[in-house]
Amino acid sequence: MIKNNVNLKTAIKLTPFLFFILTALTGNGQQNNISAFKFKTVVIDPGHGGKDPGAHGVYSLEKNVALDIAKKVRQLMENEMDDVNVIMTRSTDKFIELNVRSEIANKNNANLFISIHCNSSPEGIAETANKEKGAMILVYGFHRKEEQMEALRENASIYIEADYKKNYAGYNENDPSALIILNTFMAKYRRQSILFGEILNNQFVNNDGRKSRGVKEQGVLVLAHSAMPAVLVETGYINNPQEEKYLNSDTGQNEIATSIVNAIKIYRKEIDAT
Ligand SMILES: [Zn+2]
Repeated sequence: MIKNNVNLKTAIKLTPFLFFILTALTGNGQQNNISAFKFKTVVIDPGHGGKDPGAHGVYSLEKNVALDIAKKVRQLMENEMDDVNVIMTRSTDKFIELNVRSEIANKNNANLFISIHCNSSPEGIAETANKEKGAMILVYGFHRKEEQMEALRENASIYIEADYKKNYAGYNENDPSALIILNTFMAKYRRQSILFGEILNNQFVNNDGRKSRGVKEQGVLVLAHSAMPAVLVETGYINNPQEEKYLNSDTGQNEIATSIVNAIKIYRKEIDAT
């Protein structure tokens, strides 16, 4: 009898614990997982800034064009998606290190990181520059050195950072730790980054009637440490006189900003549905 009593007491004590385990394993737990995901923060990163002008055309600098477009994206987001926070890595002409940009996104638990840039072809502002035109979207991923012209140009920012040797000490493409970072990024965020990139690419091509070189995977440092889906948007060739005009015009900037915001809307719907 006494022994049975003890067992009964133990069973009564254990019941709430078992109930907790069961509810965690069944329906309630699943529901919590679903409602836990909410698309609520986007980080917009205008490329370059301050002492780093980026590429240039005849009369304009990449850093200024990128900031103008980023501000238009923020304004549109505030008007049309006011349930999503928009954080800018810079809203003035200020130099910010590449690793600080991804830190800002990580600290704010952003759901998406969009870095805005202009492309530039190696031949400079010659008539031949007319050959290169259109948008391009970069995602961090496997790359061959000869195929990552844009990444090398965008990564060059680190060489004017005061502490680049310290901050990027681990950056060596042949180092196994670089592969670990890459693998972590690839497993978690590569698919979603490409998904967003393709949606945005469709907007540029189908809505704006623009040429695009599509979504490419390159070793872009500003995306490497982002703990979320991340893309770098090359909005057009600033060293192509025709595109420089488009990139500096209100029409061009509004078109690009609208395409980015439309892509965010479509992307949010698609990932909510999965
Ligand atoms: Zn750039």
